[in-house]
Amino acid sequence: MSIKKYFNLLFEVKNDKPELNRARYKALSKQIPIMYGIVMVDMLALSYTHFSHTPIFLSLLIPALLLPLTIYRSVMILKTDIDTLTDREIKSRLQTINYLAVIIGVICISWAINLMNYGDAYTNSHAAFFICLTSIGVITCLMHLYQSAIIISAVVVVPGAFYFALSDQQVFNAISVNILLVVGAMLFVMFRYSLDFTNLIENQQKLEQQSKIMKILNTENVRLANLDSLTMLPNRRSFFAQLNKIIQMRTVSKDPFVVGMLDLDGFKQVNDLYGHPVGDQLLIDVSDRLKKALNKDAFLARLGGDEFGIIFNNPGTEQELMEIGNQICNILRIPFEMQEGTAKVAGTVGFATFPTAGETATTLFERADYALCYSKQNCKGTVVMFSEEHETIIREVSTIAHRLREADLTNELNIVYQPVVNSAELQTVSFEALARWESPILGNIPPNVFIRSAEQSGMISQLTAILLKKTLETVSKWPDYMRVSFNLSTFDLCSHESTLKLLTIIKKSGVSPKRITLEITETAVMQDYNRALEGLNLFRQLGCKIALDDFGTGYSSLSYIQRMPIDKLKIDRSFILDIETSKATRDIVRTIADLCRNLNLECVVEGVETKEQIDLLTEMGLNIIQGYYFSQPLNEADALKYMQNEIPSMQPRLAIG
Ligand code: C2E
Ligand code: MG
Ligand code: MG
Repeated sequence: MSIKKYFNLLFEVKNDKPELNRARYKALSKQIPIMYGIVMVDMLALSYTHFSHTPIFLSLLIPALLLPLTIYRSVMILKTDIDTLTDREIKSRLQTINYLAVIIGVICISWAINLMNYGDAYTNSHAAFFICLTSIGVITCLMHLYQSAIIISAVVVVPGAFYFALSDQQVFNAISVNILLVVGAMLFVMFRYSLDFTNLIENQQKLEQQSKIMKILNTENVRLANLDSLTMLPNRRSFFAQLNKIIQMRTVSKDPFVVGMLDLDGFKQVNDLYGHPVGDQLLIDVSDRLKKALNKDAFLARLGGDEFGIIFNNPGTEQELMEIGNQICNILRIPFEMQEGTAKVAGTVGFATFPTAGETATTLFERADYALCYSKQNCKGTVVMFSEEHETIIREVSTIAHRLREADLTNELNIVYQPVVNSAELQTVSFEALARWESPILGNIPPNVFIRSAEQSGMISQLTAILLKKTLETVSKWPDYMRVSFNLSTFDLCSHESTLKLLTIIKKSGVSPKRITLEITETAVMQDYNRALEGLNLFRQLGCKIALDDFGTGYSSLSYIQRMPIDKLKIDRSFILDIETSKATRDIVRTIADLCRNLNLECVVEGVETKEQIDLLTEMGLNIIQGYYFSQPLNEADALKYMQNEIPSMQPRLAIG
């Protein structure tokens, strides 16, 4: 090995482990001032004991030169903020410590040996004491920089020991052996310690790196957990977190903000018609359009399925907000051009304002959802703002739901029967069973109100079962040729259990299923098409007929009608209201009549009240009529009388109460 290599090995501080160097320097920065303190105090003490025997330049000059240097170095080291030093600076400082170890070490040993030429036995012993103990103290203080410890041993301890060994005093010869053994043992222990220290720092570094990676992964996990993977919008969890955050911030100021809910109309059909990949692409395109339509103040999230949530942080006036809502509806109405074809959807929007519509996340969300449902039922494809009027309805519905739960339903629920008449033959062909609830507390509640309330509060299955049992009990007393229509709710078809429960009631009633028609609405089927289909097929297999009620008010999708197991269509009352005055309505009704003929479906017209309406319908070939013109719904006894009277007279009659 060349001299340069030895030199490098001894003095060069490597920079391949900068964190280790930094840790070494940190430890040394606390020990080096102590080390200089030891050196200077020891030197001054030695200088003092030799002052009277030696030339003044020797006893005083060297300590006087070293003192400012050690003070300057100590202050400089103590004042440095190590965290601000670069890796290169740290390395260079460590290197300086190595160089200074040689310089100061050589000066000190030369000085002490020189002093020994002058004194007596005591003072010489003090000099030997100085060489041994000071070098042990210095080596101990430099233990974190192993090279420096070796340098001190090489330039101080070894020459010192050599000098003592050459002395003709046996005491010094013994000291020489002692110091070599002690320093040798110290270097061995320090070498082991240095390895442990290196391992410790490296492990610490690994741990820090792992913890950094964990932090990054954690941040990424949190990001993904709050993101909708399809549209890359914030998801439901993120939406509620944001909602809670803004509520917390505005609890005191009560500055208004708005929660918006958006639901796509017709998304299900796109999914069914073109398949899920196209449905997914449509959702991505919808979210892109929404992002463009909203300004940066708004927080847009996909809540699931075809439902989106928006938080308007600074909503402006109600009029401005409604304009944004309408704009959203308009941009969603523009057809989406997909590879597989053109998809048309619409958006319905509900808004609820903080704090007027609610002050908690749940209330605001529910109210925006309510406004959305209200809009869906009454003015699909538009915007509705939750208002006081809705508040009143909610209160009523919740009162009704509460009363329904408390009610003795078997006694309080009743059925009335409205005749369905063949106007050509003036012969009643069936009766529609219509539910009535007379609450002892609330009075008469309209069926669509308490049925909706029962649906919302999860009581509908229980209600339908009671109504069906009562209806079939009555029908079992009627002549065999008389048929009955019974209305099913959306939820009766949604679960397999409720369908089975109704099938069992029919089987046990003793009434032939052939006499029973079950009326369903398109909305009921659209909720869960496949399950509804399964349920309807079970009723049909038993022998029941299926009628599509309120036809024309829902989706009226021809592809669905063709695929659905139905026997009848019931044209909704809303068409009959203006059939005499509107040509467009007449055309629609005529088209529905043609559709029924082509699909071989029976067609019933609801809500017929006048002779003129009957004449128009007869001209269109529509003869199966239900409406006040023939009769209002009748109670059980009156319906029986009606049947008995019809046989002799067979004349149309007006309402009997
Ligand atoms: P729906 O099944 O379409 O029943 C026809 C509704 O039109 C009945 O109202 C009936 O009284 C009314 N109506 C019949 N002819 C005329 C007419 O000439 N003029 C006018 N203005 N109205 C007429 P109702 O009994 O109030 O029932 C309303 C809705 O409540 C029903 O519509 C049906 O959807 C629901 N409903 C009634 N009973 C039940 C039931 O037992 N179960 C379920 N799930 N729903 C029921
Ligand atoms: Mg009906
Ligand atoms: Mg109807």
